[in-house]
Amino acid sequence: MPTTTMLKYPEVKNYINGKFEPTYQKTLDVICPLDGNVISTVPLSSAADLDKAVQAAKTAFTTWSKTPIKDRVQIFYRYKTLLEKNLRELAHLVHIENGKTLDEATAEVEKCIELTEFACSMPQLVQGELMEVSKGVECRTERMPIGVVASIVPFNFPVMVPHWTVPNAIALGNCVILKASEQVPLGANRMAELLKEAGLPDGVFNVINGDKDIVEAICDHPGIEAVTFVGSTKVAKIVYRRATSNLKRCVALGGAKNHLIVLPDAHPDMTASNVAASMSGCAGQRCMAASVMVGVSNVDHIVAKLCEEAKKIVPGKNLGSVISKQAKERIEKYITEAEQKGAKVLVDGRNYKVEGKENGFYVGPTVIDYVSPDMAIAKEEVFGPVIAIVRTKTLDEAIAVENASEYGNAASVFTQSGGLARLVMEKASAGMIGVNIGVPVPREPFSFGGWNESKFGTCDITGKSSIEFLTQLKKTTTKWNAEAKTNWMS
Ligand code: NAD
Repeated sequence: MPTTTMLKYPEVKNYINGKFEPTYQKTLDVICPLDGNVISTVPLSSAADLDKAVQAAKTAFTTWSKTPIKDRVQIFYRYKTLLEKNLRELAHLVHIENGKTLDEATAEVEKCIELTEFACSMPQLVQGELMEVSKGVECRTERMPIGVVASIVPFNFPVMVPHWTVPNAIALGNCVILKASEQVPLGANRMAELLKEAGLPDGVFNVINGDKDIVEAICDHPGIEAVTFVGSTKVAKIVYRRATSNLKRCVALGGAKNHLIVLPDAHPDMTASNVAASMSGCAGQRCMAASVMVGVSNVDHIVAKLCEEAKKIVPGKNLGSVISKQAKERIEKYITEAEQKGAKVLVDGRNYKVEGKENGFYVGPTVIDYVSPDMAIAKEEVFGPVIAIVRTKTLDEAIAVENASEYGNAASVFTQSGGLARLVMEKASAGMIGVNIGVPVPREPFSFGGWNESKFGTCDITGKSSIEFLTQLKKTTTKWNAEAKTNWMS
């Protein structure tokens, strides 16, 4: 176990009631995937640590929930300016702890700014409703906060995924406990510092670190009203079942297997560059990444261009690392198994070493053709810079391949035919659809969330849909008409 003096970053701490907590007995190393070096340690918190955070959040809630929304969002106007001011430093942190390129990390922080802007618009979105429903009798609705909301996040977007929940939940009057990913916990501590600098009262935002045990404690804690989860489908199911069985609200986003259907009339250059960027961005570790390209009829000319594009993507230059040694081994195993079963590896990213960073976890871009839909690489989440090409004769067959996936995060079609694009828009079984776009992420105020095994729960996690999840409606009926003869409610 390294001592703190050897670490590149100070040890990660829990942040409770506006203070970083003292050192912990049980910790894990935080490893920089770019070079395999230990850069910090992260505490493995106990249920007692969580309880302390919940009590702080509950106490803060009594005042924060009664603070007018127009005052609450002032914090986020200031926080947005702080994110802009600290953009480079935050991006560097994300680059080091996650392994994505500095450009990708910069884009991630820019997305945090957009999410914060949306939170600033809450006063315009949550005005209540009022109607005189009969003479002198008025019904009104108000969106009230729900209490303490926990947000459990994955490794692939250390700061962006926390921003899916934190600004909206807090602007709407809730208090938040963020459970950072133990693989990339540094960004959450920096968020805490910046929110404090923006003027957020103590206890409104808390960070708790740990692994499986603390996630289970969150699902069980009676002081937590709602849980947002983002991660793999396996864990999303565990969290959704456990949190809802404890009578909490829960939205749990899971894994993905996104299909891009490519028709022969698609624009070859645009399609090839979009598919290559979608499958390799953030080293393929995006839940919106292209994973299967379904090539309809003869798309050889597009596949050839895709290979040219893939060869321009170089680990250590314009391609980051994957998160861990285990991830690298898993990804390479999928490629090898598919090859052994008859698929053809056109561009091979296995066994990649970056000079000077030999202990980093790199996988080069991989294009693998003639994959059959029943191979593991076509069905399971690979989560690496790999595109499996499945060939079909017709568009109907291609749609059937997409529909057969147990996931349903995103699906895209590349074509110049509006009618065929419309057919895919109608028939694809996914929550987020793209036409001639490789990463169809809906931007605020539109909401983010998949279908099928990519999401459990009724609301989406961001945008307007998140308002429903993060608030409860108070319905008030008043009668201020002493003379009214109609008195149907009394
Ligand atoms: P993960 O499921 O392993 O971990 C997510 C969180 O759950 C972490 O905070 C972790 O500490 C906790 N956890 C891990 N195992 C647990 C267990 N057995 N019980 C309780 N908690 C547990 O996911 P990851 O590897 O960090 O992230 C990658 C996954 O996240 C991919 O599957 C990716 O598709 C998915 N993801 C989905 C979306 C989406 O919007 N659908 C977005 C980002 C990432």
